[in-house]
Amino acid sequence: MTVKVEVQTFPHFINGKWEPASSQETFDVCNPATGELVAKVAKGTVEDVNRAVAAAREAFDQGDWKNMKPKDRANVLNAISYQIAEHGQELAYLESISSGGTVRRIGGSDILQMVDLFQTMAKFLVDYPFSETLPVPPFPGPAQNFIWREPIGVCAAITPWNYPMVIGCWKIAPALAMGNTVVIKPASYTPLSTLKLAEIISSVVPPGVINVVAGPGAEVGEALVTHPKVDKVAFTGSTEVGRKIMGLAAGTIKNTTLELGGKSPNIILEDADLNIALPGSLFGVFLHSGQFCESGTRLFVPDKIYDEVVAGLVALTSKLKLGNPLDPATDMGPVISKKQKETILSYIEAGVKEGATLACGGKEVMVPGCEEGNFIEPTIFTNVTNDMKIAQEEIFGPVLAVIRYSDLDEAIKMANDTIYGLAAGVWTRDVNKAYEVARKLQAGVVWINDWHMLRNDAPFGGYKQSGIGREMGKHSLDAYTQLKHVHTSMVTELERRPWYGMLFGQN
Ligand code: NAD
Repeated sequence: MTVKVEVQTFPHFINGKWEPASSQETFDVCNPATGELVAKVAKGTVEDVNRAVAAAREAFDQGDWKNMKPKDRANVLNAISYQIAEHGQELAYLESISSGGTVRRIGGSDILQMVDLFQTMAKFLVDYPFSETLPVPPFPGPAQNFIWREPIGVCAAITPWNYPMVIGCWKIAPALAMGNTVVIKPASYTPLSTLKLAEIISSVVPPGVINVVAGPGAEVGEALVTHPKVDKVAFTGSTEVGRKIMGLAAGTIKNTTLELGGKSPNIILEDADLNIALPGSLFGVFLHSGQFCESGTRLFVPDKIYDEVVAGLVALTSKLKLGNPLDPATDMGPVISKKQKETILSYIEAGVKEGATLACGGKEVMVPGCEEGNFIEPTIFTNVTNDMKIAQEEIFGPVLAVIRYSDLDEAIKMANDTIYGLAAGVWTRDVNKAYEVARKLQAGVVWINDWHMLRNDAPFGGYKQSGIGREMGKHSLDAYTQLKHVHTSMVTELERRPWYGMLFGQN
């Protein structure tokens, strides 16, 4: 199926308006499925970042946004969710033609997830403990003490290309809920849906509350992270760039949330129901061509059922249909870029060199009607050992490493033997056994007999070098506030203030 795409132009979105880049320069956004040019986008500079931060600063410092009653801001969050639902098709289309994600997934689950996220945050907001009153202390006399939670200020959000809208919303929704203002820098492969989303959100929030500057990470991203008027950075991306951002944010002691890479272990136990464990494990690794941070890329399989599992995985994989992501019949789209395709192919070559067995896939694919697309066969390696490069490094492509084990403790040890700790999974009919394994796995989320099942009311984030902090859930609201302790003394007589004696000892 070939779909001709009209080339669109996107300026920045600053202070409630479309704004051209100060340099007048643009960069190209191409469809990874067809290679076609789909949009020209304003290429941001430090000057553009300064304009966006100034707008966000003004909206935070001078505007009413942060002073609105929580129930009124909750109404605005609900209004945003209705806007997203109304524009869902357009948003899904823009994201599909730039990220290569299937419209079946984005138009369905991603849009629903975003709609529900804003509504979930609205619900949390209504009874959020913005102020806690502490008990009156016996000493130093009557006093009233409060702990207030206040917004942080201007929040910079930096997002990756794999599922940019949802990841953007994980930052925007809690930030806005708590009364902050936001400047987002999307990845250069996928700025379109974020820019459109900002326009949609802006129809129900005051100007300057949400702003987008697209452009290169090294210029636009770094300008945000080091900007003295930005109070918080929420970053999702690779561990390598995360390390850099943490260092850069140190210069102005910024509050930082980092959602980074993964190499998630998936353990099948001998008693697992293979009818769900096999398609479930492939769902865990091949959805969006393996370009999810939480993909289950290392599969641990016990000796006893190893051959049966591998044969089943290969048979199911052969049924996956690669194609244009705009076609609802497509199971797997392309990978994001030619460069990423080359990186994945070089990992496949490294796997073969290190002695792993290619059970299926391993090559690039020419999809009819998408001859210039970046397609790679879903690939399964068997006889992998956990020390191999393909078992230790994040490939970010459709590549599964199957690792044999004979003893469960040994499998758990290997599962944890990685710098990452984002997600993990276990498949078994014995729920108590599953909880026992889940306790031992070092990961921010553990799925039992499932994968990718994130919830807007549950936290998501990494152990170890997969990140710092959590997104989604009530906890994500805390991450967009700072605490203030307010002490009010009710002691009116000087002589009942003996603590002054620490200074005025003799008088
Ligand atoms: P990336 O780290 O290359 O880029 C992420 C963002 O950072 C982009 O917007 C990029 O332009 C920007 N950037 C790059 N250099 C920068 C710098 N010096 N200063 C500031 N910003 C800079 O990641 P990617 O290739 O876009 O995305 C894939 C990675 O994201 C994978 O490692 C994946 O695991 C990770 N990821 C993590 C999660 C999670 O929730 N933990 C979710 C999705 C993706």
